[in-house]
Order: sequence, then C-alpha cells, then structure tokens
Amino acid sequence: MWNFIKNREPNIHMKRLFEPFLSYRHFRTRAVDRQNTSSTGLYGFDHLKSPKGFQRFVDEAIERSSELIDYISGMPSSAEIIRAMDEISDTVCSVVDSAELCRQTHPARGFVEEAIKALMKINVYLHFLNTNHTLYNAVKKAEQDGHLLTEEARRAALHLHIDFEKGGIHLPSGKLDRVNQLNMDAHKLCREYGENIINDPGYVDIFPASRIPRQIQHLLKPIYRLTSGVSKESLGSYEDEQEKGFRIITELRTLFSVLQLTPDEQVRKMAYLKGSSVPHANHEVLDKLINSRHELAQIMGCKSYAEFVMQLNMASSPEVVVSFLQEMSNMVKEKADEEFNTIRNLKRDVCGQRCVDLEPWDEAYYTTMMKSSAYNLDSAVVASYFSLPQCIEGLKLLVKSLFGASFDSVPMAPGESWHPDVLKMCIHHPEEGDLGFLYLDLFSRKGKYPGCATFSIKGGRKISETEYQLPVMALVFNFSRSHDSSIVRLNHSELETLFHEFGHALHALLSRTDYQHFAGTRVALDFAETPSNLFEYYARDYRVLKKFARHYSTGEVIPEKLVKSLNGARDMFAATELQHILCFG
Ligand SMILES: [Zn+2]
Repeated sequence: MWNFIKNREPNIHMKRLFEPFLSYRHFRTRAVDRQNTSSTGLYGFDHLKSPKGFQRFVDEAIERSSELIDYISGMPSSAEIIRAMDEISDTVCSVVDSAELCRQTHPARGFVEEAIKALMKINVYLHFLNTNHTLYNAVKKAEQDGHLLTEEARRAALHLHIDFEKGGIHLPSGKLDRVNQLNMDAHKLCREYGENIINDPGYVDIFPASRIPRQIQHLLKPIYRLTSGVSKESLGSYEDEQEKGFRIITELRTLFSVLQLTPDEQVRKMAYLKGSSVPHANHEVLDKLINSRHELAQIMGCKSYAEFVMQLNMASSPEVVVSFLQEMSNMVKEKADEEFNTIRNLKRDVCGQRCVDLEPWDEAYYTTMMKSSAYNLDSAVVASYFSLPQCIEGLKLLVKSLFGASFDSVPMAPGESWHPDVLKMCIHHPEEGDLGFLYLDLFSRKGKYPGCATFSIKGGRKISETEYQLPVMALVFNFSRSHDSSIVRLNHSELETLFHEFGHALHALLSRTDYQHFAGTRVALDFAETPSNLFEYYARDYRVLKKFARHYSTGEVIPEKLVKSLNGARDMFAATELQHILCFG
C-alpha cells in the first residue's frame, strides 16, 4: 500500500522506504546538478535552504499531488493514468525520503524538528491518498480496459491495485474502519517494541571484576559494592571495603562480545539468559501484534498474516518459502551436526568432563576460540590493509570494471550538504553520461543514526522519451577515527558491510525503470537483498582485494595467505550459522 512507509530491512544495516508516491517540479529544478555552484538547499532541493523550507516542500508536494488527482479524474482510461499515479508517488516520496534522512542524520536540531513535522503532515496526506476511490477506480479501469501496452505498465497497475486493496479500500465501511484501526494498532505496537528494546535492554552485575576478560572490560560499566567484615587488624576493628565489578548491559553488540570472549561459563549463562528474555514488556507487545495481524489477514480473506504479506513478492506463497528453508536446512544438516560435535568436543576437552553438554551460551565462545587457534587472525593487522580511502578506491575499481563507469567525488553547491564530512559522488558513464548521485556520510557523530544504512533521496524514473530522473541515494555509516590515526581502518566485517550497502546503492543508481515504483531497492522485497549480497562476495575475493587492499604505511598488497585465513575463519562454522539464519527465516 502506498501509505505505509516501511523499513523493509530486518537488519539494522539498511533503512529503506517502501512504496510511497513527486512533483517533477522539484526534480526538474535539477536538484543535484553536478555543475551547480550557486547556492541551493539540502540534498539540492531549493526549498530546503532553511529548516522552515520543509513546510513549503510538503505543501507544494500536496498541492502538486492534488492537481494530479484532478488530472486523473478527468482523464479517459489510458496508460497516462499509471504515469500520473507514479508521479504522485514520486512527489510524496521525495518529501518522505528527504525528511527521513534529515531526521536521522542532520546535526542541526532545527532541521530535525521541521523534518519530523513534515513527516507527520505527509503521513496524514498519505492516508488520504490510500483511501482515495478516484485513484483506485482509475487504476482498476486502466487495468481492465487493456490500454497498458508495456509489461512494466501492467505490473505497475497490478501493484497499485493490490496495494490499495491491502489497505482495505474495497471493503464495506465497517470492515474498512476495523482495518484502519488494526493498521494503526500494529504501527503503534511496532514502535513500542523498538522503544522497549532501547529503553530496557537489561543488565547483569558481575563480581569480582576479574571474571570479565580484560579485552572487553572497556565495553562494560565498572560498578562497586561494599564487602563488610574485612579485618583491619591494626585498628582492631572491621570496616567496609569496596569490591569492583562490571555491569553487562545485554544489548546485542555487548552481549555478543561477552559470549565470544568470556571464559567463565556462569557469566556467559547469566548474560545470555538475561539478553534472551528482556525486555519483558515485549512479550505482551508481541502477543498483541500477532493477534492484530492475524485479524487483519482474516478480514482480507487470507489464511495467515504470512499469506497477506507475501502478495507481490517473487515467492508465491508462505508454503513455498517454508519448503525452500526446509530444503536448505536438510542440505546443511549433516555438516551442521559435524560442527556441533566439534564444538562440543572442544568444550569437553577444555572443561575436562566426559558428559558435558553444549549450551546455547557456549557456541560463540568455543567457535571463536577454534577460529583464533586455527587462523590466528590479528584484527589490527587485518585492518591495516583496509584504510577507508583504499576501500573507497576498491568501490571505484569495481564500478569501472563491472560497468565501465567512473565513481568520483563532485563538488557540492553551498547549502547542499548537512555536515562537513559528507562527500558527494557521481556515477558517470563515458557514453551515457551521469547515471546517478550518492552522498557518503561515513563517520560517527553524536546524535546520528547509529547503524549502517542506504537511504533513498530520489528514485529513478522516465520523465519523457529523452529525459530520465536521475536517482540520488545516501550511504550512512558510523566509522570511528582511531585515537592514534586520522585514517580510519576497517575490520573485515565492516568492509563487507560497506560493500553490501554499496550493492544496495548501485542497485538504485543503475536501475532504469519507467516508473519509480520499481526503481532499485523498491523491487519485490524478496529480491531486494540479492545485489547487496552479491557485492559482499567481492570483499572476500582475493582477485578483487589485491587491487586495492594495501598496507596503510608500507603500501604492501594484502597477502593472499591472509585473505585465505579470513575466508577460512568465516567458513569454519558456516553450516551452523546458516541453521541459525534459517530459524529466523
Ligand atoms: Zn541489505
């Protein structure tokens, strides 16, 4: 459905927006003209020269969309209806996407506040669009009358039609009211679920401090307790003394480090059990969410919520998905069993007990131990080959060798950037010209979106036979500069994440569609991760790595042996890791 702006990505590494609706008025201003040196607004939108500009941005988007609705209502059934609908979608998307990026990354409070107001206002308008019978009927008619000559136009009409119906527009008013209520409830519950995770991550206190290995102590908060009864012989009395310990906040990243590196099984167990059971309030939130989604699915005539959300995906039904996951699980079962025995045997060797069982809090610890003893990887040595500027060179080389295009930084107009760290890159092909623009906002700073994400600013779409609206994206990371160097060096998993997100960005920058509805990452949800996952393979391939991964001070090319060790360590318990992913499937 058009109105619900969804984060379609289950992992935190990417934030993407789903389906909303442009005014080519804005984009025709050539929002990000690479030659432009006169002052402009944020992301190249003239409206966004000041925070208050968001108000005009929203108002003009609504005004333009209303003009298009009038235009559609007075038009005979034709493919032009679908084009105009896509323009509405594009108009609204431009506001939603830029406001969302601003909200998540802009250092100025004024901009963030106005972006939030713009999002609230546009969301109300999106609801109006989603329940608009003029648009719904026009799409259905264009579909039925057979005026849609291209496959893409037919698919766009089908998607719009189904998206409308997923919002219940075709239902009698009583049922429609209930659908609206359930959607609002689900939205609220999802927000609550995320807030609970942030506000109540849980913790366990560990005493004495020596139970926590030195290399993770910096991740934890030191705490103290009084231990009474310590004899002060010289004074002939007993006095309290302080004992130092550590508080483990059981949020994902800290928990994972504790599970990987803490030899004390009781500490791992306490942290694991706490981390797996908090926040308690989410048990009730989840129950309510499951119930409201199930009711929604039933009103929509679906057996389950899974069936409801599978519509318009590539996989045809939940049964197909489950059988695919089951088949994959069967394929790796034997290998996963072997790995399980290896891990259990190591625990038996280490613990010196014959019948000791492998517990859920053991796996990360013993697999990490085996990986480091088999490959002895020093993360500082690995990172010395992956300085951030060299990694960006790697991206440039890939774009050149795969697509014959360049990926270079271009100047920004005054007012276009939101922070001095931000770079603007252009993908340029010698024959086809500029293909799209990508902002890079790579360094961590206070108040910024904490994960790694690809943000859309503008989707690509055909404007006329000779004009194409160029896509604009932003990559947001949180790399931190080390204390001893101004050059950021990535560890290997950060390099993989950089390549993964760049895969998403390229998908959007290089796709060429008639409608923005299908541009880049707005494809079917179960295809959206394919380009990004393929790009991760380049970060593991020595033939690619040797072209850019050089030692930051000596310039030495990364040794092939080191790459083999990196890959060897990552593949060591691959079947077990896949089984975990399949469980979440
Ligand atoms: Zn992804």
